[in-house]
Amino acid sequence: MSEAETLRTEGAATAAPVLRAEEVWKAFGEREVLRGISLTLARHEVVALIGASGSGKSTLLRCLGLLEPIDDGRMWLDDRDISDPRVDANRVRARLGAVFQSYNLFPHLSVLDNVTLASRVVHRMPKRDAEARALALLDRIGLAGFAKAHPDRLSGGQQQRAAIVRAIVTDPEVLLLDEITSALDPELVGEVLDLVRSLADGGATILMATHEMAFARDVADRVVVLDDGVIVEEGAPARVFADPRHPRTRAFLARFT
Ligand code: ADP
Ligand code: MG
Repeated sequence: MSEAETLRTEGAATAAPVLRAEEVWKAFGEREVLRGISLTLARHEVVALIGASGSGKSTLLRCLGLLEPIDDGRMWLDDRDISDPRVDANRVRARLGAVFQSYNLFPHLSVLDNVTLASRVVHRMPKRDAEARALALLDRIGLAGFAKAHPDRLSGGQQQRAAIVRAIVTDPEVLLLDEITSALDPELVGEVLDLVRSLADGGATILMATHEMAFARDVADRVVVLDDGVIVEEGAPARVFADPRHPRTRAFLARFT
């Protein structure tokens, strides 16, 4: 059994927290989008964030990724208070890997340059090392042959897998995935989810907003249900899906059956 699997069977609660939010508030104008979110992600834990469109999933991921300032509350990555305004946001972002719904790759760069950009520029990895690592990862997902191609030569599913490789090539502490399959044709969803599943099996720490309920049930250690900027329920996927306790969770899940 790998170290990651051991930790996950022992239960996430015993593992060290990697990412933590405490009472995070965020408004856009008058609209309160996050209303006191507290969430802890343990190392090697996979957490699925579910909830209706507009419930605040993307905003939460963007706030945690320091892509959006918060109004109140605190956030930590390992022991470091990343909500401290004096923090070097670029250094924090460099320790996170984020993938969004679409438009993840720069169209004017080759796949290889897309994948190695952060490791070369932010992490100052020598070009040869960055490319060797990137090519090994691309090879593992069958995309090495596209290294020199521009993203528009790839299918949507291949582009998202390349975007995931770009996010993991720098060995981030946490992967933040925001509905990364929702812009894909249905037949391309599986290959992207398979890659996420293999990262989860390999011990990655993942917070993912998803509409793929079957996938969340299979892969996540924990499901967190967001409703109107509040966490209304969380728990093991088997429990939340089989026996949702909050009326808002029930109403949300009813749409998928
Ligand atoms: P979800 O990802 O769960 O669909 P979002 O976090 O995208 O939810 O959005 C939550 C709410 O915040 C929505 O009402 C949305 O319109 C609003 N919102 C998100 N981003 C912005 C923004 N940049 N400016 C204004 N309102 C925003
Ligand atoms: Mg969203």
